Amino acid sequence: MSNGTRVQAFLSNPIPRPPTVVRVAAAIVLGAATTVAVAWSLAYFVNGSLNSMYGAPGFSMDVAVQLISTPPGSTEVDLEEVTRHRCWGTEVVEVWGPVINGQPYGSLHALVEGTSFAGEMKEKFDRGEAATAWWRADGWPIPALRAEARWSSYADTGVSKVVGVLVGSRHVMPTDGVRMLPLQPIWSGLVIDTVLYASLWFALFSMGDIRTILRRRRGLCGHCGYRLLPEQSRCSECGQPRLRFTKKRGCASRVHTKSSGPSAEISPSPHGA
Ligand SMILES: [Zn+2]
Repeated sequence: MSNGTRVQAFLSNPIPRPPTVVRVAAAIVLGAATTVAVAWSLAYFVNGSLNSMYGAPGFSMDVAVQLISTPPGSTEVDLEEVTRHRCWGTEVVEVWGPVINGQPYGSLHALVEGTSFAGEMKEKFDRGEAATAWWRADGWPIPALRAEARWSSYADTGVSKVVGVLVGSRHVMPTDGVRMLPLQPIWSGLVIDTVLYASLWFALFSMGDIRTILRRRRGLCGHCGYRLLPEQSRCSECGQPRLRFTKKRGCASRVHTKSSGPSAEISPSPHGA
């Protein structure tokens, strides 16, 4: 089949197209599904540990470290660290204890802002209690779903609590990264991502409109591809009213059957030819 024949077949082959409301509804459902699929893919494939994300394209990081005064008679220096790092569609907050005689620290508060455990962690910081937690948010372009893990103590290598679906090992520390599928919605990101992907799906569903416009430009019936004579206001093959492509509007507009000047090429004509 030659290219010309293919184009001809493409233009002359009518396909039924669902109404706009159905296409919009389908696009929204698929847009939401795509948002979740992208977030879960990121959650599965991006480890989320600082080591694995460090230096990658789009990487950014905020770190707050507070040195805790060394207890008398001890040579150990205890420190508390909160790291917030982002890379492409994944954002992670690591809260790393312990806190001994700790003091409230403003930047720690700022770094847990926006996490689901922010309130609880702020109280712990203010009381100077040990706090070890890990939170991740996934989604592109905006994080849309989140998950979290907590450890009962700083030295624990086992996650004591998981909010989300744990995919990898439970025997990890915060710096190992935790592999889990996020289930909690971040509504702003969920809505923005869904609208973006729904627009792409809707554009895909509307490819038929592009074919219709191409047909009209070639003087064919937009509906069935039948060649129309200049004076026809209705297709003699399928009976659909003739819509014309106009350069001014860039889209099809209904042809006026009133002949009022040189621009009105179509004069009223009886149905059929
Ligand atoms: Zn037609």
